[in-house]
Amino acid sequence: MKLSIIVPCYNEEDNVLIFYDAIKNAFSNVSFSYEVIFINDGSEDDTFKNLKKIYAQGSINIKIINFSRNFGKESAIYAGLVESKGDFVSIIDADLQQNPKLILDMVDFLDKNDNYDCVATFQEQRKEGKSLVFFKNTFYKVINKLTDLDFVNGASDFRTFRRSMADSLINMSEYHRFSKGLFSWVGFNTHYIPYQADERACGNSKWSFRKLFKYAIDGIMAFSTTPLRLSSFIGMFTAVLSVFYLIFVIIQKLCFSIAVPGYATIVVLILFLGGLQLSALGIIGEYLAKIYIQSKGRPIYIAKEIISYEDGLDLDDKND
Ligand code: UDP
Ligand code: MG
Repeated sequence: MKLSIIVPCYNEEDNVLIFYDAIKNAFSNVSFSYEVIFINDGSEDDTFKNLKKIYAQGSINIKIINFSRNFGKESAIYAGLVESKGDFVSIIDADLQQNPKLILDMVDFLDKNDNYDCVATFQEQRKEGKSLVFFKNTFYKVINKLTDLDFVNGASDFRTFRRSMADSLINMSEYHRFSKGLFSWVGFNTHYIPYQADERACGNSKWSFRKLFKYAIDGIMAFSTTPLRLSSFIGMFTAVLSVFYLIFVIIQKLCFSIAVPGYATIVVLILFLGGLQLSALGIIGEYLAKIYIQSKGRPIYIAKEIISYEDGLDLDDKND
């Protein structure tokens, strides 16, 4: 098997049908063998039913991993990697925002350039709102400062890489997965090509601003312990400041002997320091929660069933 194409799907009932046609067209003349691995990530619509229809057509090698519930795109990608057999592995969304034809260019590039292990796409220009673009740019600045890794602004999960890189990613079986970080962490030589994301074929994006914000925080925490160190620095800085203030108060008392009651100062200081302490505790708590979840060793995903071209199942689900 030369190429595995991993396609995470969550409520993409219409898109999977269009995607299937697009892949078939794009790959109609290729001389190598390929498999398409669809992961149904606990969709509540007819995604699974439509995937089974596609499978039943039997015209290309299809594998369907049906999750027991929604585990998130990161888990879906992991499941796809585990099930993939190809020498090259591609990850692409099901909503046709990413052109499947680009996969052929990526494979071609890897074939011709032995020194590269991965071809990744990045968006030069985003078609999103100004405030979202601002937050995304800020995120990349922050995460690049806080970690030793190199995060390319606008880099997407839409990429193709060699088996060796796929195996390394499978070995990183951490529970809180942040693909952008994992791709950077495992290293390998990556060639970046710009691409323009198209409009979604059907349906809506699953990302709200709140979800993106949480994802950004999780990403920073997964690859940096700097926030923990930040609490120590803020603590030390406050201690040094308080020494200066102490000197100021003593001088005030000795030279001017002003018996200031200092009510306001005390209230402000108590609130300020209390706030700082709670934030520091919160940061520690966040890391602790991640350790707690990880220590339970729960699986990253649960597959209810896997339908594979390799098993030669003859599905008669076209009419249900
Ligand atoms: N997706 C998924 N599980 C989720 C959310 C999304 O498998 O919980 C899939 C979704 O079906 C799509 C891809 O991840 O194929 C990207 O999702 P989306 O288009 O919503 O993200 P965006 O393109 O807006 O970043
Ligand atoms: Mg999308």
